[in-house]
Amino acid sequence: MNIEQFYPLFLQANKVTIDSRKIENNDIFFAFSGDNFNAATLAEKAVSEGALAVIVEDKEYENTNGNIFYVPSTLDFLQALAIHHRNKLNIPFIGLTGSNGKTTTKELIHAVLSEKYNVQCTYGNLNNHIGVPLTILSIRPEHEMAVIEMGANHQKEIELLCSLSKPDFGYITNFGKAHLEGFGGFEGVIKGKSELYDYLKTFHKTIIVNENDEIQRDKTENYDPKITFGKPDSDYYFEAFSENHCVGLSYQGTRALSKLTGNYNFTNLCAAVSLGLHFGIEMSKIQHAIESYTPTNMRSQIVKKEGRTLVLDTYNANPSSMMASLNNFVTFEGTKSIIIGDMLELGNESELEHQIILKQALDLGFDQIITVGRNFKQINQTTLSFENTQELIEYLKLNKIQSENILLKASRGISLEKALDFI
Ligand code: ATP
Ligand code: MG
Repeated sequence: MNIEQFYPLFLQANKVTIDSRKIENNDIFFAFSGDNFNAATLAEKAVSEGALAVIVEDKEYENTNGNIFYVPSTLDFLQALAIHHRNKLNIPFIGLTGSNGKTTTKELIHAVLSEKYNVQCTYGNLNNHIGVPLTILSIRPEHEMAVIEMGANHQKEIELLCSLSKPDFGYITNFGKAHLEGFGGFEGVIKGKSELYDYLKTFHKTIIVNENDEIQRDKTENYDPKITFGKPDSDYYFEAFSENHCVGLSYQGTRALSKLTGNYNFTNLCAAVSLGLHFGIEMSKIQHAIESYTPTNMRSQIVKKEGRTLVLDTYNANPSSMMASLNNFVTFEGTKSIIIGDMLELGNESELEHQIILKQALDLGFDQIITVGRNFKQINQTTLSFENTQELIEYLKLNKIQSENILLKASRGISLEKALDFI
């Protein structure tokens, strides 16, 4: 089966999925196998459930009716199909990467651009070598723009994702201490994320630059085309304000207050608004988009519970986002408790980074500090410390946290959100 032959079938499909439980009528199902599971065994069932076509990598399951197709690698075929589709699409693609804030920025850009255009974007956090092609394949003729989140935890990943999505515009949210293990330290992070710049520069595409970020500025000095923000003489200059713990942005007299907490979200807002202005959207419409956007999935979300203010940031954590979160939370008025969980995937630097964060938390003088997870437990001889979220829950069943403000932040693997009902 080659791509040219298959493409007309794809164009008739409802959607492409790799999840057999989500197959709907007229879908194309890519049967990705795991180490202990041959997904080709699901092919017949998928067809009986209405799949238009199934792609398998086990020749035995190919059929002659022309709806179960054998390919040597489902992954290669998925990526090749995505490239083929991308090449047919004549709309602006905006590519995003960075250590923190990709999904938030993607959602903000989507909200802003949707004020004028029909925009497709990465669904949820589908930002890897499978998620990016799936996103590309979800783009339909009615779409006028695409926003693609690209995640990476090792070198050459962004290069691959750029070769699939071929962005016309690119933005790196920031260079932070995340996935240090896979990237080989902070220098490795800079190199790995900059693969987006390498791609954009090679093809003379537009780079969006936060001029307050020294690394971004250095790496794009004298480069053209670019869209800049951050300094008074940048293309776009915004002022920050905050109300009720939420971040706002003001531009030429128009103020837009978001529902996001955390000063770091100001930069995310700036990037989205710069793109909106670049694409000719009126500031009053941008303001509407920013004010209407409601964060979900426990990213910088504020929740009121029994008269207390809870900041839920349990979606993920790494040293940069943890530090940003603590420094933001300390500015809240009233008594403050923090429940912070392990930052995973830090390799050799893990112990030191946990020490730095605990020290910062102690220095900032929170009223109560609770840590959750083995990494913190090993180094925390000073405050209350639990090995996992379940232990924390047992404690919370007997002890109510009294502070007026409570921050919850941890890596995904700690599942700290499970403690929410007990706080
Ligand atoms: P992932 O790698 O899981 O895809 P992401 O880059 O998409 O993460 P988000 O999900 O948008 O990031 O945000 C995760 C958390 O990172 C937020 O809840 C917040 O704590 C922090 N964060 C968001 N934006 C920034 C930023 N610009 N700088 C530092 N930290 C940030
Ligand atoms: Mg994300």
